[in-house]
Amino acid sequence: AGWGTPSPPAVPTDYFHPAPPANASARANATLLMLARNADTESAVRSVRELEQSFNQRFNYPWVFLNDDDFSDDFKTRISNVVSGPVSFGRVPREHWVQPASIDEDRARAGREKMEKDGIIYGGSLSYRNMCRFNSGFFYRHPLLQQYRWYWRVEPDVHFHCDTPFDPFRYLADHGKVYGFTITMYEYEATIPTLWETTKEFMRLHPEHVAQDNAMGYISDNGGETYNLCHFWSNFEIADMDFWRGDAYSAYFDFLDAKGGFYYERWGDAPVHSLAAALFARKEQIHLFDEIGYEHNPYTHCPRGAGAWARGRCSCNPQGSFDYDGYSCMRQWDRIQ
Ligand code: GDP
Ligand code: MN
Repeated sequence: AGWGTPSPPAVPTDYFHPAPPANASARANATLLMLARNADTESAVRSVRELEQSFNQRFNYPWVFLNDDDFSDDFKTRISNVVSGPVSFGRVPREHWVQPASIDEDRARAGREKMEKDGIIYGGSLSYRNMCRFNSGFFYRHPLLQQYRWYWRVEPDVHFHCDTPFDPFRYLADHGKVYGFTITMYEYEATIPTLWETTKEFMRLHPEHVAQDNAMGYISDNGGETYNLCHFWSNFEIADMDFWRGDAYSAYFDFLDAKGGFYYERWGDAPVHSLAAALFARKEQIHLFDEIGYEHNPYTHCPRGAGAWARGRCSCNPQGSFDYDGYSCMRQWDRIQ
């Protein structure tokens, strides 16, 4: 209450049931991570509170918030009020965010204008391209993330529909996996016209980075000749930053970045991460977290496995799950299992 406002009578604190105490020694070296703007305060707080209630109040993992601007005091105060673990707020270094000088701005502008005219979502946006490039190749280099290996990417305005009483970081770590997802779908081809040819060129130059027993069967219907546009929806990711920091992905990102497609086209971090995970990891190292009911407008993944929906006390409708929607790539994922 504000100063001078009398507080209404409070329920005594011994009526409250505390969350089970976190077992810090069992925790993974992990953080929850959100990139956001100050204008996202309301929706960021809502996402954080939902993940705290459904998962993190049992585990108390730290949170890291990143922004290309300074976070407002209001953002920091509002967020700090709903987290159960340590929290830090960082600014993205300018050179990790803005269009590099190596990009031909006339060509980039022509690309934006054409895509805008063609009605492609975010087609004319420069800031969206900065964001996609940052999420592709820079977030895991931020000073605040150096101490961590694992991250769970969270966005403003997402929803978590089930209890998650298990530790997904530990699950991935214990099973030698590197990447977890909940939703998979097709990318708009107009945003990545040359991404697959560029990726094939990289594979020809660097066959040593391509994993045996990879997930090529998920991203291609013809043994790698063409890309079927399937990707993991990266607004949700639980993954190993050491995979992005490793030789294969570092070389791949640098190769892509040098081609300029983040600006001349509109390469998204979702297809970039997905192609890398599918090609440079073994397919067993990629994991569908069926138990995690997750919604990012307009799609929801609702658990389908036997008992998972009931065990998670999920609020989502399994019939409304995106998994076997016509636009979903879950069939392509299933066929390589
Ligand atoms: P969409 O999910 O592809 O529609 O894209 P979003 O607008 O949700 O952006 C993806 C993520 O990047 C979200 O976490 C946003 O908060 C964040 N984001 C997008 N653009 C910017 C930006 O210009 N600055 C900052 N700080 N964050 C951004
Ligand atoms: Mn989003």
